[in-house]
Amino acid sequence: MCGIMGYIGAKETQKVLTKGLGKLEYRGYDSIGIALHDGTALQYNKTEGRLQDLEEKLEQEPLTGSVGIGHTRWATHGKPSDENSHPHMDAKKEFAVVHNGIIENYLEIKRDLEEAGYTFVSETDTEVISHLFSRLYDGDMVSTIQKVVDRLEGAYALGVVSQHDPDNLYAVREASPLIIGAGDGEALISSDIPALLEHTRDIYILEDGEMAILSEENVKLLETNTGKEVSRDLFTVDWDMEQAEKNGFDHFMLKEIFEQPTALQKTMTGRLDENAKRVDFDELNWTDVQISQWNKITIVACGTAYHAGLIGKHVIEEMTRIPVDVEVASEFRYRRPIVDENTLVIVVSQSGETADTLAALRQSQHLGANVLAITNVVGSSIAREADEVILTMAGPEIAVASTKAYTTQVLSFYLLGIYLAQSKKSVSQEYREKLIDTLSHIPEQIEEILDHSKGIRYYSESIKDAKSVFFIGRGLDYAVSLEGSLKLKEISYIHSEAYAAGELKHGTLALIEEGTPMVSLITQDEVSEKMLANIKEVKARGAKVLGIAEEGNLDIWEYVDETCFIPQTLSLVTPLLNVIPLQLIAYYTSLALGNDVDKPRNLAKSVTVE
Ligand code: GLU
Repeated sequence: MCGIMGYIGAKETQKVLTKGLGKLEYRGYDSIGIALHDGTALQYNKTEGRLQDLEEKLEQEPLTGSVGIGHTRWATHGKPSDENSHPHMDAKKEFAVVHNGIIENYLEIKRDLEEAGYTFVSETDTEVISHLFSRLYDGDMVSTIQKVVDRLEGAYALGVVSQHDPDNLYAVREASPLIIGAGDGEALISSDIPALLEHTRDIYILEDGEMAILSEENVKLLETNTGKEVSRDLFTVDWDMEQAEKNGFDHFMLKEIFEQPTALQKTMTGRLDENAKRVDFDELNWTDVQISQWNKITIVACGTAYHAGLIGKHVIEEMTRIPVDVEVASEFRYRRPIVDENTLVIVVSQSGETADTLAALRQSQHLGANVLAITNVVGSSIAREADEVILTMAGPEIAVASTKAYTTQVLSFYLLGIYLAQSKKSVSQEYREKLIDTLSHIPEQIEEILDHSKGIRYYSESIKDAKSVFFIGRGLDYAVSLEGSLKLKEISYIHSEAYAAGELKHGTLALIEEGTPMVSLITQDEVSEKMLANIKEVKARGAKVLGIAEEGNLDIWEYVDETCFIPQTLSLVTPLLNVIPLQLIAYYTSLALGNDVDKPRNLAKSVTVE
């Protein structure tokens, strides 16, 4: 969600800001703007629309200066419009503010300020902050920030430039991500690493309750409340921008789909020991006694990560017989979840910044549970706050629609299931060895599917004009169907639903008509007869069925209109394979419709607001 970029130094500030905002585009946004201190006054330019729209405006009216802030907005309060875009300023144009997050008590502050004669020009919650700066400014920015922050409730990452202080750039963090780049004779703030890499690899991660003062010479971190200086180790980024570039693929999403074999291999490396037929997680500090005390596991996540959790439930229950619940984080956090010291809570988030998941993590810790995070981003809030962390090794994921992050999360659940089973001795050694052997072949089997993906492209073109697409399956196939359906919705904007195949006749069958596309997963041996019966039911009502099944399952020809085969594997492991054609269906359908595949409308990559 939203991107913040800030710069102080000798380079061309306008260019650094716009280029940096370009690198943050993947997060999703609807408007964009920058403000610079030109040595005398603060100047800004902002617009509804994309980076290109801003660049066109800047061509007419370029901004100069050696300090500035920029923002890509993902509207939460007030529609996307020029006025609502950031940066926001006070009436005297003494302070420019960019904000990521939500100020929950903004109406109350707005009322106070209006009574005191302040006039508002936008509908945003953010504008209260710039007026508060104006009202509370006492000649010292640190104490002014303290006074402003004292009034704010909610989540915010802020970048602030003061007209009185062109030698410094200020940043504040409370529950929204913000990082600081410490360059040579320059310093930057940003919502994410890719925007900084061109300038520096040395990064400080700002924590909640902290502020930073940046100048050309140095970066100072302070506790916001006390003003006490904080010492923090620099974190050096060891991956390359190239990894985050498209590498010849038309879209990041396609590149990321094709990166899955490598991402999965990396996630296994050092953990899955094929010789010893064991799984080891050096990073986990649990004891066998501790593991034996868990009588319940709760998985909490949002969106695609939630779908990974549904697979996790099957796998962990199968491996350990510990009951597992899976909950959507935004629901979990607002009820009274039954979680205590005998519960293991697993939170799953690609970015490690998902606001609802982070809240669920904190709530679970408060209730006494041990919290394991499965995340892709080292140094993220969730990675830092969880008791234990499994890092998925997917590398940077740029496309909004998640693919490699999902499969590495799913793989992490298999590894975790085996790991727990080793401790609890809950499965036979023979079964464990078979599973390990099967998992080790997954990367090459995915390659095989990707090598033969042409048919999926034709199929996708054939469904692009459908009103509705259905995905059905049973057991693990149903869990994967949910992810396939979400993927299609996200980037093709076609209405789609996933159904447990046996549930169709309890209502949804009424929606099936002549030609309705129906993607059917038939990879669970135990229920494949049942699935075929369900397929007969939908065919009888006119559905056009694509069957996804394991190679060699030639019987399905009789039942379906088209087929897509995946390599043979254990029923428990099929999700890692059969999700690949579903990702490709979503990608090629979106492509056929001419949509913006990597940046679908209304969506953001890292959902840092609730
Ligand atoms: N709540 C602010 C707005 O609606 C900031 C949104 C964002 O994080 O982009 O303007």
